[in-house]
Amino acid sequence: MIYGKLYINGEFRDAESNKTFDVTDPYSLNIVGKQADASEKDILLALEGGVKSFKEWKKLSSYERGKLLRYLYDLVLENEEELAKMITLEQGKPLSEALGEIRYGASYLAWYAEEGIRVKGDILSPTNVSMRMNVLKEPVGPVGIITPWNFPFAMFVRKMAPALAAGCTVIVKPAEETPLIAFKFFELIHKAGFPAGVCQLLTGDPVKIGQLMMKEAGIRKISFTGSTEIGKLLMSQAADTLKKLSLELGGHAPLIVFKNANLDKAVEGTITSKFRNCGQVCIATNRVFVQKEIYNEFINKLTEKVKVLKEGNGFTGADMGPIINEDGYKKIVSHVDDALNRGATLLSGGKGYRNEDGKGGFMYTPTIISNVNEDMKIMKEETFGPVVPISVFDSEEEVIKLANNSIYGLSAYIFTENISQGIRVSESLEYGMVGVNTGRISSAQAPFGGVKMSGYGREGGYYGIEEYLVTKYIGIGI
Ligand code: ADP
Repeated sequence: MIYGKLYINGEFRDAESNKTFDVTDPYSLNIVGKQADASEKDILLALEGGVKSFKEWKKLSSYERGKLLRYLYDLVLENEEELAKMITLEQGKPLSEALGEIRYGASYLAWYAEEGIRVKGDILSPTNVSMRMNVLKEPVGPVGIITPWNFPFAMFVRKMAPALAAGCTVIVKPAEETPLIAFKFFELIHKAGFPAGVCQLLTGDPVKIGQLMMKEAGIRKISFTGSTEIGKLLMSQAADTLKKLSLELGGHAPLIVFKNANLDKAVEGTITSKFRNCGQVCIATNRVFVQKEIYNEFINKLTEKVKVLKEGNGFTGADMGPIINEDGYKKIVSHVDDALNRGATLLSGGKGYRNEDGKGGFMYTPTIISNVNEDMKIMKEETFGPVVPISVFDSEEEVIKLANNSIYGLSAYIFTENISQGIRVSESLEYGMVGVNTGRISSAQAPFGGVKMSGYGREGGYYGIEEYLVTKYIGIGI
C-alpha cells in the first residue's frame, strides 16, 4: 500500500484534516494506495506559496532553471522502471507503454531545459530618435495545472516543463484516479532541489481545488487537459479573474485510407492510433474511412492483426489493459450496442466483461465494426475504448466532408502514397494535428493541440513555451 502526500512549500504533508482517498488498480479493483485529500486550508496554502515563490523563481536566469529541469530529466530516467510500474498499477496500461510514457514525458523536460534559454524579445525601430522601444517576454505568472488519468505522468510534465522553463511556478492537480505517479514524481522534484513553493502538488476534490484556484487572482493561468465539458466550465470560471487558459480537450479523430495507400502502413497506423492505452487517448482514431476499391483488402488485413491483440493484466504482457472505470466501460458498451442496433456489422471482438468472476476491473476486447453511418453515437462522440468503426467512401471530396463533420478538431490521420493528395487533404482537414502515413505524431518538439471543441493552446516545442509568456513593451524617452 502506498501513501501519497501533498507537496506544499518544499515539504511532503498529509492533509490538514488527515483525510485520504483510495486509489484502486483498475485491473483487479483492489485498493493499492491512499492519497492525501487536501482540505481548503491546504489548498489555500499551496496557492499562496505558488504565488509567493514566483517572485524569486522568475528572477533566476533561464540557465539556472534549465539546469534544474535537466537534472530532473536525469532523475526521471534513472527511476523510469519504478515510475512505469506505478502507472501500470493505478492506470492499468501495459508496462511497456507505461515506460514509453515516462520517456515521452521526460523528453519535455530535456527539451524545455534548453528551450528556456532561447526566449527572447525585440528592440523595435523607434518612431523618432529620442525614443527606444523594447519588447520583453516575461513569465505569465503562477500556473494551475489540471490533468487527466489517461497519461497520468506525461500530461502534467508536458505542461510543467515549459511553465517552469519560462519562469512560472506551478500548482499541479492530477486526476483522482491516478495521483500516485504524481506523488512519486514530486519526490524527484524534491530531490532535484527546486526552491520551495515553485512546484506544488494538490490532490483531492477537483471541484473544490478548481474553484479555489480560479478565485485566487495571483494564479494567472490555468492549463487543463480533460473533457470538453469541464474545459467549458473552467473557461466560464476563469472569467472573474481573467486568467489565461490552455485547453486540450476531447477529440474524435478520423483516419482516412485512400486506394493508393500502402495498406500495411495503414493497418499498422490504425492499430497504433486506436489500441494504444486501450483506446483511451484523446488523439485516438475514432472513425475509419476506407476508399471502396481497397475496402475488403484493408478490412481483412486489419481484422487478422486485431484478432491477435489480447486484453489483460498490464504487468504480464497484455497488449491492452483494463478500462479505467465503470463509467468508461458503459460508454463503450453503449456506443457498440447503439451501432449494432442501427445496422452496423460486428467483424471482431465486441465483448465486455469483468475480471475475477465479475468482481474485478472492466475489460473490453479489441473490436472492429463496419457499415457504420453518421447517425450512430460512435460517429459523433468520443468512445475512449478499443473499438474501430469503419465506413466506405468513394471520392476525396466526399471523405473530407465526412472527416470534418465533427464538433471536435484535435487530430486526424490519412494514408496515401500520392504526395499531392497527402498535402491537399491534410490542408483541408479542420484539425490541429494531422498524421500522414503514420498513427504516431506526438513529440516534444511539435505543437500538440486542437481547434473547435478540442480547445486551444499548444504544447510542445517553441510553441509550447509561448503559452507561458506574456509580452511587455517598454517605451523609453531618452
Ligand atoms: P475525464 O473524463 O478524462 O476524467 P475530466 O475533464 O472529468 O476528464 O477530468 C480531467 C481533470 O479535470 C481531472 O484532473 C479532474 O479531476 C479535473 N476536474 C474534473 N472536474 C473538475 C472541476 N469541476 N474543476 C476543476 N477540475 C475538474
